[in-house]
Amino acid sequence: MNPDLLAAKRRTAILIVEDDTAIQALLTAVLSVNYDLTVIGTGQEALNQMATGAFDLILLDVGLPDMDGFTVCRQLKSDTRTREVPVIFLTSRNSAQDEVKGLEAGGIDYIAKPINPAILWARVNKHVELKHSRDALSQMARLDGLTGLSNRRTFDDILDREWRRLARVGQHLSIIMFDVDHFKLYNDTYGHGPGDVCLKKIARCAVDALQRPADMVARYGGEEFVAVLPDTQVAGAEAVAQAIRENVAAQNIPHEKSPTAKHVTVSLGHIPKIGRPPTDLVTAADHALYEAKKTGRDRAVAGTFE
Ligand SMILES: [Mg+2]
Repeated sequence: MNPDLLAAKRRTAILIVEDDTAIQALLTAVLSVNYDLTVIGTGQEALNQMATGAFDLILLDVGLPDMDGFTVCRQLKSDTRTREVPVIFLTSRNSAQDEVKGLEAGGIDYIAKPINPAILWARVNKHVELKHSRDALSQMARLDGLTGLSNRRTFDDILDREWRRLARVGQHLSIIMFDVDHFKLYNDTYGHGPGDVCLKKIARCAVDALQRPADMVARYGGEEFVAVLPDTQVAGAEAVAQAIRENVAAQNIPHEKSPTAKHVTVSLGHIPKIGRPPTDLVTAADHALYEAKKTGRDRAVAGTFE
């Protein structure tokens, strides 16, 4: 299943790192109405908590008992898992020098002590809003606008990452390339609007055919799609490819002028990884797809490396 289609709505989670219990109480009183809060008092706990990836924003005291907030912030910003989480410093040392130091360490803003609840409320809300906009933009950049599937760039990233991961543990990975048979003819016959609707249905059929949480399918371009199936050998890929083909056929989308069938069909080529780099994999799957086209369409063909 494509995780992008399942992105669940949840409350925004904020990590509060502050060792003064009176200030902890004030922050909790103001922010717990809108946010899920976790309150801790040391820099080490902050690093441990942030490693879970559960937080959208962090309020970070500069003066902590075990290390200063700047050090914590620098560590968060040097780690790809936590780099994007905005850090707002809490400090009583409200000097220009500290502000510069905080911004240099990667902080996005400052809230001075004693804390004014209205300022706290306004700044935190603003930064949460900005964070959500940035997240939405970066998600949009990863998705195909028409089908909601991952786009080609995301596919390239995921294939590369999964390929490396599976190569390390000596596991297989299969990819399936497939496209809509006679799609140009479909568009010429019914128009581009119905053509788009058709592609959306094909995307849905492909997602429904996937069997494991790590499986994904992307729009490769035009009427061409590609699925990545980690830890899957040729028989497993064949089963998914046939399921995609059957799901599409079951939709019974009319395609009167198609020489292949009276409804929309897909051709698929799949290939397991055998010690080849990802680019070879894509090329081999493409060759298998070409074989499927050449031998009559509306079928899946297992590729080989030759
Ligand atoms: Mg302190």
